[in-house]
Amino acid sequence: MGRVEGKVALITGGAKGIGSATAKLLLEEGANVVLTDIDPDGRDVATTLDSTGTRAHFLRQDVTDEDQWADVLEKTVSVFGRIDILVNNAGVASTANVEDETLERWRWLQSINLDAVFLGTKAAITAMKHTGGGSIVNLASIEGLVGDPSLPAYNASKGGVRIFTKSAALHCAKSGYGIRVNSVHPGYIWTPMVEAVASEGGDIDAGRAALTELHPIGRLGTPEDIAYAILYLASDESSFVTGSELVIDGGYTAQ
Ligand code: NAD
Repeated sequence: MGRVEGKVALITGGAKGIGSATAKLLLEEGANVVLTDIDPDGRDVATTLDSTGTRAHFLRQDVTDEDQWADVLEKTVSVFGRIDILVNNAGVASTANVEDETLERWRWLQSINLDAVFLGTKAAITAMKHTGGGSIVNLASIEGLVGDPSLPAYNASKGGVRIFTKSAALHCAKSGYGIRVNSVHPGYIWTPMVEAVASEGGDIDAGRAALTELHPIGRLGTPEDIAYAILYLASDESSFVTGSELVIDGGYTAQ
């Protein structure tokens, strides 16, 4: 019996990184999975994870589009009958200090990292509240807990996800919906997003070493480190956990 046996999960940004690792783990633990992305490679990820095409599906979705949320949830319910787990994982980064950041890039980033988490949470509550509840997991970051001089837009978005999650969790708890909402706060995880950050100085190995230095545990995180945290929050093992912030950062914020 898997830890999320028979549950139905929707994971945004599932084409790579933390999203695809989470899709793989939830499938292994018995869930049916819909992974969505703007990147069409997500279709190959779904096929690789489940060659039979019965337990993993890919849908193209831009998470910033409210109409697409309604469509994706409707399709998920029509294929698998319900939705129990939403992982709001899609996200982007922008490296520029507050003086150099542009309003255009700021708004683009907030639309994906914060506005879309609101849209997804709102849509999932509507879908889950009549079917006995569910679990919503929002990807925040250590950058939602501490500041970084080169990540003002990202800091603001992830800080927003952190406190928005608590508001949604309280609303669901007090409404008796049986829906839990929690945030996850990874340190630096070696994914395409962080590979791009590490490459910015022109030497990816030096960039990786500099990021590793920031983590007292002596290594960067892996997508699987975060997938296991999401699995816990998605499963009934965490049935008393809501409005919480789960930090998985190799000691980054403990200093
Ligand atoms: P990634 O760049 O490897 O993957 C992100 C995915 O999101 C991509 O497949 C991308 O196509 C998708 N995406 C981007 N914009 C989208 C949109 N508008 N609609 C749908 N999909 C979209 O990133 P990752 O490192 O796996 O990060 C996943 C999440 O975890 C993000 O929210 C990120 O901010 C957060 N996070 C990552 C780290 C890290 O170190 N990697 C640390 C803390 C938090």
